[in-house]
Amino acid sequence: KSTTVRNIDGSINNIEEDDEEDVVDLAANSLLNKLIRQSLVESSHHVEVLQKDPSSPLYSVKTFEELRLKEELLKGIYALGFNRPSKIQEMALPMMLAHPPQNLIAQSQSGTGKTAAFVLAMLSRVNALELFPQCLCLAPTYELALQTGRVVEQMGKFCVDVQVMYAIRGNRTLCCTALNCDLLELFASKGVLKTLFSPVRRGTDITKQIVIGTPGTVLDWCFKRKLIDLTKIRVFVLDEADVMIDTQGFSDHSIRIQSLFDSRMFLLIYSDAWLAFHGLGQEAKIQWTALTSHGTRVHTAADGSGMKCLKKSDRMLLFSATFEDSVWRFAERIIPDPNVIKLRKEELTLNNIQQYYVLCEHKKDKYQALCNIYGSITIGQAIIFCQTRQNAKWLTMEMIQDGHQVSLLTGELTVEQRASIIQRFRDGKEKVLITTNVCARVGFEHSVLDIAVVTIVGEMRGVRGESGIDVKQVTIVVNFDLPVKQGEEPDYETYLHRIGRTGRFGKKGLAFNMIEVDKLPLLMKIQDHFNSIIKQLNAEDMDEIE
Ligand code: ADP
Repeated sequence: KSTTVRNIDGSINNIEEDDEEDVVDLAANSLLNKLIRQSLVESSHHVEVLQKDPSSPLYSVKTFEELRLKEELLKGIYALGFNRPSKIQEMALPMMLAHPPQNLIAQSQSGTGKTAAFVLAMLSRVNALELFPQCLCLAPTYELALQTGRVVEQMGKFCVDVQVMYAIRGNRTLCCTALNCDLLELFASKGVLKTLFSPVRRGTDITKQIVIGTPGTVLDWCFKRKLIDLTKIRVFVLDEADVMIDTQGFSDHSIRIQSLFDSRMFLLIYSDAWLAFHGLGQEAKIQWTALTSHGTRVHTAADGSGMKCLKKSDRMLLFSATFEDSVWRFAERIIPDPNVIKLRKEELTLNNIQQYYVLCEHKKDKYQALCNIYGSITIGQAIIFCQTRQNAKWLTMEMIQDGHQVSLLTGELTVEQRASIIQRFRDGKEKVLITTNVCARVGFEHSVLDIAVVTIVGEMRGVRGESGIDVKQVTIVVNFDLPVKQGEEPDYETYLHRIGRTGRFGKKGLAFNMIEVDKLPLLMKIQDHFNSIIKQLNAEDMDEIE
C-alpha cells in the first residue's frame, strides 16, 4: 500500500507504508539524541563560507555580549553554562539577530547548537509586554516539543514575563510514544516545566508569547479555533522538519508546506530539521497539510484564510544538519542571495584507537576472553555490542551472575527507557552496557544507538579527563560479535561508528573484537578497509594490552 505526497520542492513521491515506521523511528531517534545529549558536539573545523550575499556584511561574534542581548537573556545563557557561542552560532547568531536579518543557509550536524540558536532568536524577538503568541514552533512529536520548550524555559529563566505554552493534544494522535510517567519524571529530573498542558477553551485568549506544539494541534489552534493570530507571529520555527518534511516523503505526522511566498517575507530556519518563518509577507499563502497515517488530509489552510500580511518583510534563515539535494533545491528556490555557511562534520577515525582481537571458538570462549581482559586492565566502563538480542541477553545474565553491574539496551525498550538506561550508565550507576544495534533498520542516521554510545564515550572521556576524575580508568568498546551485513559482509560503517569516536580529539581509545575463527576473514577485511592494524591478543595472556 502506498500514498502519494507532494514534496516541498514540488516533486511527487510514493510512500510505502513501511516508511511510516521509519518516520516514527526518526522522531524517536531525534528524541533519544536530545535526551542523552548533554553538551555541545565539538568540532575541529572552522565554519566555511560557501557563498556570500554581496550586499550584506558577514561578521561573526566570539562572545554573547557582542550580540547586545537583553540582560535577562544573557543571564539565562550563562546560567545554562554557555560561555561563548558555538562555532555555528558565532556566524549564524549575528545574522539571525540583525535588523533586518540576513538571508542565511547554514548546515551543521546535530549537537552543534542550532536549537539553542533559534531559541535565542525567539526569546530575543519576543516582546514580553505584549500578551499574545509571537513565536510559534512546530515539532514532530510532543516529546520533542517538550524538549524545545525546556530549552526555552531554561534560557528564558530570567525573562520572567515570557511564557511558553504547549499546543499538544491531550489525547494525542501525532506522536510515537505515549506521554508516560517515565517521561514526565525524566523531564522533572532534568529541569522545570513551567507550563504543562491544560485544555484551552474556545474563545480563550492565549496570553503566552511562545507557543510550541505538534502540527495538527497548532493548525487547529490557528485556523479552526482561531486561538492564534498568525499575523502577529514574528518567528515561526519548524523544528525537526526533516522528520516532518522528509525528502523521501511519508508519515503520519509529516507536514508538507507548499508556499507561494513572495520573496522577501519570512525568516526560514531549517534545522536537523527545521524551518522558521519570520513573519508572513504580502498575500502569503501557505498550505499546511498534516497527513494522518492513512494519508488523509486533516488540516488544510490553502486559501490563506486567517493570514494577512505582516508588517515589514524579513529575511530568511535556513539551517540543516544534512543537505539533501531536494532540500537544497527548495532552499535555493525560495531564498534569494543567501549567505551560505557550513560546519563540516567531524570525521570519525580509527587513528588513536588501539584495536585488538581475540580468537575464540564459541560464545563461552568469548566471555572468558572478556573476563581475562577485565583481569588485566582497570576498566572504568565497558560498552559491549552483540549482533543478536539473544546473545545480548545471554551475556547480560552471565555478567550479572559474575557480579558485574550490567544494563541491557535493546530495541524492545521505549525511547524513554533507553534514554534512562543511557543516563544511568553515564552517571556510572552501571559499569557495563550491553547492546544490540537497536535501530539498525533506519539507514538515516545509521544507528542512533551507535551515536548515543559513541557520544557517551566521547563525553565521558572529555569530562572525566578534564575534571581529573577516573583518568586512569579506561572505557572500552567490545565487539562481542562483529557487525555484519546480510551476505556476511562486514558492516564497516557500524564498526567505525561503534569505535571511531572514542579516538577523537587526540583521546586514546581501546577496542576489542571477539572473533570466531571462521569470522577472521571478515576482520581482515575491516583491517584492510580502514588501513589500520588490529592486533591479535592471546586469550590467556593479555599483558600485551597497551
Ligand atoms: P542542535 O540543535 O544543533 O542539535 P543544540 O542546540 O541542541 O544543538 O545543542 C547541543 C547541546 O549543546 C545542548 O546540550 C546545548 O545545551 C549545548 N549548547 C548549545 N549551544 C552552546 C554553547 N554556545 N555553549 C555551550 N553549550 C551549548
